[in-house]
Amino acid sequence: MDLSCLHDLKVTIDVNTPLSRHTTFKLGGNCPAIIACRDAKTLQETVLRLKEHSIPFLLMGFGSNILASDKGCSRVIIRYTSPAPLIHREGNIITTDAATPLDSLAAYATDEGLDGLTAMFGIPGTVGGAIAGNAGAYGEQIADHLQSVTVLRKDSSTATLDAGSIPFSYRDSPLKHNGEIILRASFALTPLARNVLHAKRDKVLQERKFKLDFWQHYPCAGSFFRNVSPSSNAGQRRAAGWFLEQAGAKGLCLNGARTYEAHANIITHTDDATAQDVYELSLKMAELVKAKFDIDLVREVRLLGEFKNAPNSDPAGYW
Ligand SMILES: Cc1cc2nc3c(=O)[nH]c(=O)nc-3n(C[C@H](O)[C@H](O)[C@H](O)COP(=O)(O)OP(=O)(O)OC[C@H]3O[C@@H](n4cnc5c(N)ncnc54)[C@H](O)[C@@H]3O)c2cc1C
Repeated sequence: MDLSCLHDLKVTIDVNTPLSRHTTFKLGGNCPAIIACRDAKTLQETVLRLKEHSIPFLLMGFGSNILASDKGCSRVIIRYTSPAPLIHREGNIITTDAATPLDSLAAYATDEGLDGLTAMFGIPGTVGGAIAGNAGAYGEQIADHLQSVTVLRKDSSTATLDAGSIPFSYRDSPLKHNGEIILRASFALTPLARNVLHAKRDKVLQERKFKLDFWQHYPCAGSFFRNVSPSSNAGQRRAAGWFLEQAGAKGLCLNGARTYEAHANIITHTDDATAQDVYELSLKMAELVKAKFDIDLVREVRLLGEFKNAPNSDPAGYW
């Protein structure tokens, strides 16, 4: 694929590269190129030029919520992440580039004595990925303190949206589906003593320790399914992991893929596993919960590329 139209931009291009290198699941075949963009301006220009040259692309953040197909994908991937935080403060408002690591945003707010983002500590990924999927933990979600989001629209215009105008829901938002790219975001936070914030941070990190330690040793994408909605048989929203455990999914294996013994909603795998093994295992897990509770689990992890037996995959076979 000819990407010479990007030659003068500050991007890194890895051609014919396996998606397994760019997702925390560490699975997935080749894509024609991964284009790494580190700031909003470069991203905008990259998108513009790819469109001018009719080169189809997909956008990814850190790749911590994605299961990529063994067949890879035929589109180029723009990877929008920055190793360094791109953040500034005005009063109690923090504005950040969407490429910033979520953990760095939480750390910045805490060090500035601003409360509202401590639950985000330890969630891997970028601010953009977190907003698109309304990431969260311990009953808090990133949209809770979001003030506005600047997006790059499909027609290449930009718009700053009031967060209240975006219908965020549990681990979801239209921004995950409508092809708009989050460039920047502002958060309205509340002043709080630093020592109190540091204590909140330490508590969150302590509680998340097992997930974080796990991730260092075993590939995964966090919870595979969303928690269960209150309108179902579950009564109040309950952890999908609880239903999976009750249904006997803990330690379930399929070829090299298996659920984690300590947390039935996390799938990991050995080196010889395929992404299809992970996907088939997730179907088995959902079947067990359906059979025992008559509840349809909803996948939180996104599929990238083609999977056998995948319902609802879009006509192009992506996402
Ligand atoms: C060990 C571990 C623990 C985890 N714990 C949690 C947790 O506690 N809570 C939680 O909510 N999640 C958790 N996750 C899942 C994941 O970290 C989050 O969903 C994260 O917010 C994804 O961000 P990302 O940058 O990796 O997005 P990616 O996985 O790269 O992308 C996910 C989706 O977001 C879209 N996207 C990414 N960037 C943008 C952008 N700038 N504009 C528009 N769309 C964009 C992509 O197109 C894709 O559809 C965990 C994952 C792991 C591996």
